[in-house]
Amino acid sequence: MGIDELYPPDRLIAAQRATAAAGLDALLLTPGSDLRYLTGYDAHAGERLTCLVLPAEGEPTLIVPRLERPAAEAAPNTGVRIVDHVDGSDPYPLVVAALDGPVAAVGLADRMWAEQVLGLRAALPDAAQRLAGEVLRELRIRKSPAEIAALAEAGAAIDEVHLRMGEWLRPGRTEAEVGTDIAAAIRAAGHVSVDFVIVAAGPNGASPHHGTSDRPIGAGEPVVVDIGGTMPSGYRSDCTRTYLVGGPAPADFLDYYAVLRDAQRAAVEAVRPGITGAAADAAAREPIAAAGYGPAFLHRTGHGIGLDGHEEPYLVDGNDRPLEAGMAFSIEPGIYLAGRHGARIEDIVVCTTDGVQRLNTTPTELIAL
Ligand code: ZN
Ligand code: ZN
Ligand code: ZN
Repeated sequence: MGIDELYPPDRLIAAQRATAAAGLDALLLTPGSDLRYLTGYDAHAGERLTCLVLPAEGEPTLIVPRLERPAAEAAPNTGVRIVDHVDGSDPYPLVVAALDGPVAAVGLADRMWAEQVLGLRAALPDAAQRLAGEVLRELRIRKSPAEIAALAEAGAAIDEVHLRMGEWLRPGRTEAEVGTDIAAAIRAAGHVSVDFVIVAAGPNGASPHHGTSDRPIGAGEPVVVDIGGTMPSGYRSDCTRTYLVGGPAPADFLDYYAVLRDAQRAAVEAVRPGITGAAADAAAREPIAAAGYGPAFLHRTGHGIGLDGHEEPYLVDGNDRPLEAGMAFSIEPGIYLAGRHGARIEDIVVCTTDGVQRLNTTPTELIAL
């Protein structure tokens, strides 16, 4: 997979067309996934202004701090005019100059820093500010074959880490100690950064976004391990498995784990073009509710993934948009019993033209270590 396939130059043109169609005069993209999607440039996000000025018509301009010009020039798809600024100068007039005329409405990168939002408002007082996501979401929500290959590579890398869990997870070690080993393995498996490491043993397993703690893992405790990182491609991994360490499981745990496993599999199998995000959520939620654990499944079933760890589409009640081929997202139901323990199973999957492809392929049964 070549980097030019992953970040094709014609994406800028597609984005310009979509910008015009949305009634925006330009997109203004500071460092983050929107900028990277269009240019491949993994720009440093700092107090110095980096901003791609992409007019609906005309030549794009990438404004960068002078000390980052070499990095910008080395990016895969920045065959655009680059203008730099030095420390101590005001970079915002460069944005106005790059627009080459008055503008009525601009789309700002969805996750732009507030100080830049306000800087751009001061520089362009007559321009309405909207979200670039209005335009870019529709382009980003369906992944190209190269993007799916990149997500599959990320999935295989995080699967490798889960397959090594027996090296680290045992009673008496703290969640943080195990987490440190996992983080090193996430890098060793090919990720350039570790995005999150959740090692949630016993009662901590009932907190879906726990992280790690200095609490030692007890014998016979279920442990929820949810891990992910970013690959050199920019695409991300995210996979959860639940383990049982050093002893027999709590009495009801095995029962609800079986319910959860069936629910997760049912939701994966429900994925195909045309089914809505809400229906995919219901496919996981209904069997869990039928078994009496409805309130214990306290989050949505899944989120899209790509250059961001969480992006559209969301598998959640109320999302009546049909899934389409090329959409990539997690299927991650969980059951959480406060004060006691919990479980979650998460795979990244892709909606294909006739069904579903799992990008995480390790077994989902409870893994006793
Ligand atoms: Zn989460
Ligand atoms: Zn996760
Ligand atoms: Zn997830």
